[in-house]
Amino acid sequence: MNKNNNRAANHSKNLLLGVAIGDAIGVPIEFMSRPHLDANPMTDITGWGTHEQPPGTFSDDTSLTLCLAESMAEGLDIEQLGKKMCDWYRKGYWSADGDVFDIGIGTRIALQKILNGSPAVLAGGNTDMDNGNGSLMRIAPLALDKAYQDRVLLWNTIQAVSSITHRHVRSHLACFIWVVFLQELMECMDKQEAYEKMKHIVNAFFDHHTIESRERELFSRVLENDIQQVDRSMINSGGYVLETLEASFWCFLNTDSYKEAILTGVNLGRDTDTTAAVVGAAAGTYYGHEQIPSHWLDALTRRNDIVTLAEKLQASLSS
Ligand SMILES: [Mg+2]
Repeated sequence: MNKNNNRAANHSKNLLLGVAIGDAIGVPIEFMSRPHLDANPMTDITGWGTHEQPPGTFSDDTSLTLCLAESMAEGLDIEQLGKKMCDWYRKGYWSADGDVFDIGIGTRIALQKILNGSPAVLAGGNTDMDNGNGSLMRIAPLALDKAYQDRVLLWNTIQAVSSITHRHVRSHLACFIWVVFLQELMECMDKQEAYEKMKHIVNAFFDHHTIESRERELFSRVLENDIQQVDRSMINSGGYVLETLEASFWCFLNTDSYKEAILTGVNLGRDTDTTAAVVGAAAGTYYGHEQIPSHWLDALTRRNDIVTLAEKLQASLSS
């Protein structure tokens, strides 16, 4: 466990590499069922499989996370971020190798709306059914900027950033919970302490803001109870934002290393790359990039570009 005080200097690198490698581990087995993976568990980095990509290839989760990280380094502007995301969709900007082989339905519809002239902040769907994990998967970099320890500013920013593809309050709540948890992980030496602090901060924040009780209650397994104690059979890992949030907490809190957290995530099955990308933000932050298996780091596509971006972002952040 990385408990040294130098961790703060590497938060950007830890987080971005954590996301990208988790994503890359999950890509070859995306959509595989849990029973199949229980019989044939993923134990290391591999390639090909579902999307026929070489080992170390990251997908949409990482590309859009990198778009946000780059946008933050340039001074976050929602329209500019929307443009970067469209450049990814149309031209493979920040993709692993120019090929956009994975995109969620909600994200595709929203980016197409922006290309057709919609303001980015209004592009995402906002019905009950528009709550895939497509904004949660790319939200983690917001935890890096200490300006967002002002939680009103964080909430307003999350609403805008998420709304580019996911405009429903449920997606905003999931992103807020996860970013506050990552913020606390950066401050705490103990992940259980970070989890308890997150619950306290988020519940107090929700008490003072008008959040529909029906929506808030959906998060009770994370915010009121201890998600770590839930049986694996009750943790779903599909593309619904609430499932990804719960699975990510569960995998991270129930494991003791980056490698174990990621493999536990992908072996839940179904939306393997997104679960592992979200888990990877927490595990990378907490254990540090030094604890990521070196052959996983060596295999990662565009590793040097990601590290360069992480350094650019870190240099630009308020201290
Ligand atoms: Mg993906």
